[in-house]
Amino acid sequence: MNVLNATHDPALQSWVASANVAGCDFPIQNLPFGRFRRINTTEPWRIGVAIGDHLLDLKLAADAVTWSPEVQVMMASLALGDLPIVMARNAAARSALRAELSAALAAGSPHQEALDRALLPLAEAQVTLPCTIGDYTDFYTGIHHATAVGKLFRPDNPLLPNYQWVPIGYHGRASSIGVSGQQFPRPLGQTKGEAATPAFGPSQRIDYELELGIFVGPGNALGEPVAIADAEDHLFGVCLLNDWSARDLQAWEYQPLGPFLAKNFATTISPWIVTMEALAPYRAAFTRPAGDPQPLPYLDSSFNREHGALDMTLEAWLQTAAMKAAGVAAVRLSQSSVREAAYWTFAQLLAHHTVNGCNLQPGDLLGSGTLSGPAAGQGGSLLELSMGGKQQITLPNGETRTFLQDGDTVTLRGYCARAGAARIGLGEVSGTVLSATAPA
Ligand code: MN
Repeated sequence: MNVLNATHDPALQSWVASANVAGCDFPIQNLPFGRFRRINTTEPWRIGVAIGDHLLDLKLAADAVTWSPEVQVMMASLALGDLPIVMARNAAARSALRAELSAALAAGSPHQEALDRALLPLAEAQVTLPCTIGDYTDFYTGIHHATAVGKLFRPDNPLLPNYQWVPIGYHGRASSIGVSGQQFPRPLGQTKGEAATPAFGPSQRIDYELELGIFVGPGNALGEPVAIADAEDHLFGVCLLNDWSARDLQAWEYQPLGPFLAKNFATTISPWIVTMEALAPYRAAFTRPAGDPQPLPYLDSSFNREHGALDMTLEAWLQTAAMKAAGVAAVRLSQSSVREAAYWTFAQLLAHHTVNGCNLQPGDLLGSGTLSGPAAGQGGSLLELSMGGKQQITLPNGETRTFLQDGDTVTLRGYCARAGAARIGLGEVSGTVLSATAPA
């Protein structure tokens, strides 16, 4: 687990020249998986690996090169557009695939000529969800987010007592998860103000949440929990996730069973899954502040203590309709660190999710929860940045926001950079709020 190998060598270069450009999200050390077809076609979806400003079409690559027998089996599944079959393989098998893809795309590879014909510019690819997502659970691991939001509702008791013991989560809805570029109408629903009865109409408090999505690799059978020592091997990789939220609907509906219509109208993810192996150089020690409870034994392992955390920077950007019309680029709303934000590790989420016997399947998605930093201005949602809507945010063009307006596009980005390692990125996820469809 988490072993650095030749695929992580920061000196490694690719024969795909754009992958060697400084600041590129998809250098050869990354090799994320996604699903695509050529734009303006209705071809079946294919699996690709992003490299520089291109992708390697694995349907074409499967036959273009003589892979090892072990890898050829996986390439044959990928050539059919099936990512979960590879997600379900153990870490060693997935690592063998990564090693051969890395060698084939490395500068000096004898396969350059054959694979050059399997490249497609990302600009000529239409992406979709990387796999069918069977189930989706959103956690709440951002302790600064949980504290800030709690303060708005309970100034004297912001963090509920279970938070430091239980990784809190709720079951989200897989059907409304879309890929970057998703647009959705402002949701309608019930809101409760000062009046005695609730109002019905378009939400006035649409928000984004800056999160990571974690794709499950190998699943577990019903009744067979995954021990935390084995949990890392059940993680496939991560993407960016925007958990759009209607705060006014949420405030009225969330008790006693948690989020429902305030969350399930849309969730948007980035198209490329960065594998856990690609993230190995950026793992960090997982520690708890002095005086905080230590995780119960089923949520604790030596590996988790030594390497459970992730050193990654996340950002949220906003481009309003007026900015688009004027040709003004998006403005950054916040920047935060996953390591500083997350109170629980991915392995702890998976171990906790299965400890009661709940079965996870390859391609299931876990959300991290909003990953806000500790400082003001590091909030991963407008709820935090606007202090619950009480403080307007002024944009460089003079517009103001408390929550999102129709036509606003939110873009999330994430990257890992550490001395002695290559910089890799998650790419980006964008989504746009449209006007509400008229109430029935
Ligand atoms: Mn969330």
